[in-house]
Amino acid sequence: MFCPECESEYRDGIARCSDCDVALVPELHDEPDHLGNLFALVEEKSPDLVAELLDRLEKAAVPYVIEAGTALAMLGSESIVFGEPQAWEARVYVADAFADRALEILRKVDQEFGRRRNLPL
Ligand SMILES: [Zn+2]
Repeated sequence: MFCPECESEYRDGIARCSDCDVALVPELHDEPDHLGNLFALVEEKSPDLVAELLDRLEKAAVPYVIEAGTALAMLGSESIVFGEPQAWEARVYVADAFADRALEILRKVDQEFGRRRNLPL
């Protein structure tokens, strides 16, 4: 058993940390000490929705990257040649460690914009 505050290890049968007076837990959950790789959060064609999403990600201190433009498809396959610009589109990525928080934010924004999307639970 471990104290979630001071991370001291206790033998079985002890329920509280004597120093911190908090309940012991069976395992310590490691806080992510690095941001990890990027998680592809969403592809979206509405600039308004993306603006709202980015605003909320910033307020929630979720690190993100956005790729956006009218030739986004070219990023994946260099051989694509467009006769004219495509519809504006954006891809938003967030740091892996923040994927859950970002999905929660995306769900709320989707709801407000009446957008239905298949998101991982
Ligand atoms: Zn403790």
